Amino acid sequence: MRTQVVIVGSGPSGLLLGQLLTGAGIDNVILDRVGKDYILGRVRAGVLEQGTVDLMGKAGADARLASEGLVHDGFSIAFDGRDHRIDLAGLTGKHVTVYGQTEMTRDLMAAREAAGTSTLYEVEDVTLHGFDTDKPFVTYTKHGVTGRIDCDIIAGCDGFHGVSRRCLPAGAMRTFERAYPFGWLGVLAEVPPVSDELVYASHERGFALCSMRSMTRSRYYVQVPADEQAEAWSDNRFWDELRNRLPRHHAEAVTTGPSFEKSIAPLRSFVAEPLRFGRLFLVGDAAHIVPPTGAKGLNLAASDVHYLFDGLRDFFLEKSSAGIDAYSERALARVWKAVRFSWWMTTLLHRFPDSSDFERRIQDAELDYLTHSQAAATALAENYVGLAF
Ligand SMILES: Cc1cc2nc3c(=O)[nH]c(=O)nc-3n(C[C@H](O)[C@H](O)[C@H](O)COP(=O)(O)OP(=O)(O)OC[C@H]3O[C@@H](n4cnc5c(N)ncnc54)[C@H](O)[C@@H]3O)c2cc1C
Repeated sequence: MRTQVVIVGSGPSGLLLGQLLTGAGIDNVILDRVGKDYILGRVRAGVLEQGTVDLMGKAGADARLASEGLVHDGFSIAFDGRDHRIDLAGLTGKHVTVYGQTEMTRDLMAAREAAGTSTLYEVEDVTLHGFDTDKPFVTYTKHGVTGRIDCDIIAGCDGFHGVSRRCLPAGAMRTFERAYPFGWLGVLAEVPPVSDELVYASHERGFALCSMRSMTRSRYYVQVPADEQAEAWSDNRFWDELRNRLPRHHAEAVTTGPSFEKSIAPLRSFVAEPLRFGRLFLVGDAAHIVPPTGAKGLNLAASDVHYLFDGLRDFFLEKSSAGIDAYSERALARVWKAVRFSWWMTTLLHRFPDSSDFERRIQDAELDYLTHSQAAATALAENYVGLAF
């Protein structure tokens, strides 16, 4: 088989890139090691920046997002028993849209199927070859039979645990990493959210986030130690802990119910540099991950796709390599700003087990500063709605 771009990974970055390429008349094939249902069963991000929403429109996959996405003009930071609203619209003139990653993935898959573009699910042993030449190819096995796809470009959109980054020779890449000593225990339940907007709570017992997927489906998180097991948390224990960390008016508004998803996500910041190796380009979580505080992971995957799609369109349609030559530098400049913001928001709102009294006082002072300084609140809001790309 031959195509122009092989995309490894059918997550949001692979699907979005594939759909944009298809729209530009650039042939592509997506490979994923798991099946469609498995991918659609993964519960992950839910807050989209306007740039991500715009890209969904450009990909022709935004009809449901436009009708079902919840536009949020602000969110609250709760601490010391009170709420402080960050007025995103008032401070920046922009908003975010609450729409689950699962739904975004479903829409992109449907658009891809409607366009008749090829996706190979449940393939094993995906191996990248010759990406340091102008004749790269990818091999895989499916049902015990080996396949080969020759191509011009390989896009590694296969997430943090994927094969693309790992196939690089030692010394080709530099990595930067910070692991946090806690994770987020997340619960999804068919109950109305505690508030119309998200509530980020900083409490002496630990961080909590009240989020939602719709006005009837809530997504809640509490900070837990990094080695905690989800099985140790009954629904009752979770609801009690969540309420303990919220100001009273929010705690009293929590509607409880049986959870239908409960899992723990570790928190980590990670960046690999550069994002290009000959004809191989790393995109999204394959190259970088951020802690979910600040909701940047999925949105960063989208901005990578934007820069790479621009470059590939010029490469194939204008015969210019300027865009792909600049991809790594352009994407990383935005990645590092989001890595900084996610680290900052995580550090501001969580309890670190080894933090000193001095560090606690600094957290308190920073929260107080946010509530009294429009400049500080604007800096937070500008990053939360997403820096331009
Ligand atoms: C538990 C969890 C919770 C999260 N919560 C949030 C949140 O609240 N807010 C936020 O902004 N972000 C969140 N994120 C991050 C966000 O989900 C990611 O940034 C986003 O999924 C990145 O998309 P991606 O397409 O780059 O990678 P992925 O979504 O990881 O997709 C990669 C795809 O590649 C496939 N793949 C992997 N290895 C191979 C292989 N060897 N061969 C072929 N295919 C392969 C995988 O099956 C997968 O389908 C969360 C992530 C996790 C894991």
